[in-house]
Amino acid sequence: MITIEQLKIFCGVHDKRIMEPFSHEGRTYATNGFMVVRVPALPDVTASMPFDDFTSKIDSLFADYVGEWIPVHLVPDVSEPCSKCDGHGWLFVCPECDGVGNVLYVGKLSNYDCECPLCRGNGTGNFISDKKETCSGCDGTGRTEDREKTSKIGVVAVADWMLRKIAMLPDAELLAPRQYRESVIFRFSGGEGVVMGMRQK
Ligand SMILES: [Zn+2]
Ligand SMILES: [Zn+2]
Repeated sequence: MITIEQLKIFCGVHDKRIMEPFSHEGRTYATNGFMVVRVPALPDVTASMPFDDFTSKIDSLFADYVGEWIPVHLVPDVSEPCSKCDGHGWLFVCPECDGVGNVLYVGKLSNYDCECPLCRGNGTGNFISDKKETCSGCDGTGRTEDREKTSKIGVVAVADWMLRKIAMLPDAELLAPRQYRESVIFRFSGGEGVVMGMRQK
């Protein structure tokens, strides 16, 4: 059986609604907006569906699909430590501007909206502060890579960073489509999913 920890790999990092798996009508889902994984409902997942029409949209992606099942090959990880956060995955929020990047300077005659001198307008940085936020440069993974890199799945291109997530699932297989589709279906021991596809360049 798939665990919540395995599902969390597929959750989003910016949109609060998808940062945790959620359950709906007997299934538990995880999505990052580019891919969706679904398994029979996990009893520990109590969050409910944050979207309307989500299930029917996902069902429609599975409908009328013609292709061949192929195993997911391990795609080599060519990522490097994120230069923005030095590989930590998070950044300190600037204590001077509270992450806004601007500060109000009160002069004798006027008030001025100035670039924050401590973080130079970034809102985050390498100073010490009691607030942290997820690094936007690497989505909290601490690693960055060329997200444009893709592999050929049937007639569709799928991003390598997404294929690597799928390859972490037990006995994962992709349904390589014979005709172009904007998504590719996959299955694994204990569940199934769908990942965004692109036209091959
Ligand atoms: Zn600042
Ligand atoms: Zn980073």
